[in-house]
Amino acid sequence: MSSPVAEVAVEITGLKKSFGPLDVLKGIDVTVARGEVVCIIGPSGSGKSTLLRCVNLLEEPTDGKIVVNGVELTDPDCDIDAARTRIGMVFQGFNLFSHLSVLNNLTVAQRKVLKRGEKEAQSIALRNLERVGLAEKVNAMPAQLSGGQQQRVAIARALSMDPSVMLFDEPTSALDPELVGDVLGVMRALADEGMTMLVVTHEMQFAREVADRVLFMDGGYVVEEGPAAQVIGDPQHERTQSFLARVL
Ligand code: ADP
Ligand code: MG
Repeated sequence: MSSPVAEVAVEITGLKKSFGPLDVLKGIDVTVARGEVVCIIGPSGSGKSTLLRCVNLLEEPTDGKIVVNGVELTDPDCDIDAARTRIGMVFQGFNLFSHLSVLNNLTVAQRKVLKRGEKEAQSIALRNLERVGLAEKVNAMPAQLSGGQQQRVAIARALSMDPSVMLFDEPTSALDPELVGDVLGVMRALADEGMTMLVVTHEMQFAREVADRVLFMDGGYVVEEGPAAQVIGDPQHERTQSFLARVL
């Protein structure tokens, strides 16, 4: 029998983050259930990226507690590197290693961090390239791919580490409009497979269709949260309303 704890993928409690005098996150409480897709929306500078970066400790929280997959990352004794291997992150830019082939982009961390053998790493890489529809690009170099293809490779690379949760920070914002749909399609398929996902996005249609829950952030707080139909379709707070009036 699974414990109730196992149903919680991410638990953020009282999270604060300051850069010098600048208070960016002012007390964030968010719980993400296993298999849940949570989209984070909000104006530029509201702290969305900082929140995601705190979840895998790319930024060190000033205060608060973060538990991912039952491991408290904010415990000083936590082995951060080990915990981080199970947290996939996909950024706005395509952070592929430009000097490595697609295959090697997908195998290098599997071999070095997870200590998988070459054969196993390659077969896992191929399986994940198939998931994102790019098996035929296995030997290509990143520069030979479109931005959308590079982003799908970045997703496949993160999946190859067997993440318990996937963090996406505006994964389609740098793409030409005609390439956005393919990347969102891959993310939608992942959601359908039950992946736990935290997605910062400006794609309101995607949030409406895929998110189990939407958080609206402004000024370092979660101002409003709930089902997408409620937060995007019928926002209650004035700040949510004025943000949506600008982006929709
Ligand atoms: P969002 O992703 O919602 O646009 P960010 O989390 O990137 O917002 O940034 C929130 C605020 O924190 C901004 O004012 C930004 O300038 C500031 N900030 C982010 N990262 C740093 C940093 N490393 N050092 C100083 N200020 C930062
Ligand atoms: Mg950002």
